[in-house]
Amino acid sequence: MMKDKIELKKYYSTKEFLENYIYEENNLGVECTEEGTTFRLWSPQAECVSLNLYQTGNGGNAYERIPMKKEEKGVWSWESKEELHGVYYDYLITRNGEEVRSADPYAKACGVNGLRSMAVNLKKTNPKGWEKDQTPEEGPERIVYELHVKEFSWDKAGGFPEEYRGKYKAFTCRHTTLNGDGIHPTGLDYLKELGVTHIQIMPMYDYGSVNEAGEDTEFNWGYDPVNYNVPEGSYATDARHGEVRIREMKEMIQAIHEAGFGVIMDVVYNHVYNASDFCVNQIVPGYFSRVNEDGTYSNGSDCGNDTASERSMVRKYIVDSVKYWADEYHIDGFRFDLVGLIDTETINEVVTEVHKTHPDVIFYGEGWTMDTAVTKDGYKMTTQPNSTDVPGFAFFSDTLRDALKGHVFYTTRKGYVSGAADLADTVKGCFLGQAGDWCTTPAQSINYASCHDNMTLLDRITRSTPGVSEEDRIRMNNLSAAIYMTAQGIPFLQAGEEMLRTKIDASGGFLENSYNSPDSVNSIKWDTLEDETYQNVYNYYKGLIAFRKAHAALRLTNADDVNANITSVDGLDENVLAFRINGGVNGETSDGIFVIFNPNNAATSVTLPDGAWDVCVDADHAGTEALTTVSGSVSAEPISAMVLVKKKS
Ligand code: CA
Repeated sequence: MMKDKIELKKYYSTKEFLENYIYEENNLGVECTEEGTTFRLWSPQAECVSLNLYQTGNGGNAYERIPMKKEEKGVWSWESKEELHGVYYDYLITRNGEEVRSADPYAKACGVNGLRSMAVNLKKTNPKGWEKDQTPEEGPERIVYELHVKEFSWDKAGGFPEEYRGKYKAFTCRHTTLNGDGIHPTGLDYLKELGVTHIQIMPMYDYGSVNEAGEDTEFNWGYDPVNYNVPEGSYATDARHGEVRIREMKEMIQAIHEAGFGVIMDVVYNHVYNASDFCVNQIVPGYFSRVNEDGTYSNGSDCGNDTASERSMVRKYIVDSVKYWADEYHIDGFRFDLVGLIDTETINEVVTEVHKTHPDVIFYGEGWTMDTAVTKDGYKMTTQPNSTDVPGFAFFSDTLRDALKGHVFYTTRKGYVSGAADLADTVKGCFLGQAGDWCTTPAQSINYASCHDNMTLLDRITRSTPGVSEEDRIRMNNLSAAIYMTAQGIPFLQAGEEMLRTKIDASGGFLENSYNSPDSVNSIKWDTLEDETYQNVYNYYKGLIAFRKAHAALRLTNADDVNANITSVDGLDENVLAFRINGGVNGETSDGIFVIFNPNNAATSVTLPDGAWDVCVDADHAGTEALTTVSGSVSAEPISAMVLVKKKS
């Protein structure tokens, strides 16, 4: 290395570097069309750069080595009149007499395991009808369902064709049913019936922890990025031909759109799989990652390294990448992993740039506060306490999550639904879209009870309620769902929460982190749908979702509207919460909504406002139709929610 890491860290912030080497054009990487192919690489310290061309994505020698031309701002280029679609390449960089070989950070395609990049004419990867593909117009509601490509279709009971199990292509199979019984829908048909509007897909860019040339029983969540702008190969039917994974991911997105859902991509810009091996750090030594004063990599992510998003060319890389996915793959939203490690300026630029051409794309992420060695002063991180600095970006509400079921790291603690005595006020703030001391508007709150991290909802409830009956635990589960599905903000659920998903390890314990557990642990178990208990829970979620979609007063977008139209009811039994929501607001067609949450083991009586009220949600049922009509006062059963709509007079 030319200088040690600390010297380099200083060098990248010098006036000399900033004036001479910040490249602003939007054309790094390879542009390949019928008219020709251009290669551009940013490598300021290189003395010379060679482009190596290969027939295949791995193995074999370069058939051509081409010296690249030095351009301004540290960029190297080479242009061919040929359309080099399908040609694999890497770069050989000479620096201080040493040679470094690297793939292209801006690669749009790659060979098996992402070690070699591939030139691609993207037009040739488009499935039939792709130019007409667009986000479905399904109304203003956003209810996000988080799933993993492989967990979705790996279970044989799902009825997917054998060759597509665990692959992008499974999403293109419509009208699948449980063991082909023709009765219980699985796959996208199942999700359509459930009613969620957006599918958030766990990492589907190229990651490093699964061997794409290995057995297809390997499993990983994929939070270990290698090629940020290339689809993961292990989900493709052929990982060795770079165009296949692109086409098949597009087919998946097209199928999800056709089925009526938006697609949200889980992106992990906060760290890379291996900081030393990562291509940007190879090409521009240590530029991509933060370094501590002792020369070690900063590790706020707990994944070995943190991305130096405050550096101009890293920021540009992140902005270009998100924009590319929105433009080329028609992605409708982005979930940022550990966004508390990325500076607010970068996130605001991402939001602004993407919204220029895709105004409805949504952005949210994990805004936890973490220690990280930011390389220069004056930058704020995108954390919950800084939420007002990033108004176009929403945050997972761990405030609500932990209040509902108990603290995520102390798994024997109870939550509001399981009998904790001191969490009603926290739940109240969350219900109003103003969680804890960080959230000032429902537009920035992702409301949830469980996601892929930590125990599933039912497992977490079970863990903290020894001696409680299964029936009561399911009531706690359903009360959690009723709270976050009627709260102000954006509801979110982990795949399978609506069918009491469980993750059990080999010794029979509840798994908190199944990132590399086998498929047998992680897959959605479609045959649970045959069990009546599960069906009841599923129907309850389905009813809550339908109710939410039918009531615009549940999706207010700012605190002023909330405070003017929702009243918290006083004088109730301890821990019981009730809210009166005005009709008319935000296009709400009813004359008002009344919501009761009773986490106690005894029924509770609540006085209703004047008039007759249709009960649409109670302990066992949820939907848009009246189960019964009441007036005066009403009794809410133990451990249950009750939601009523004022009858038109
Ligand atoms: Ca990979």
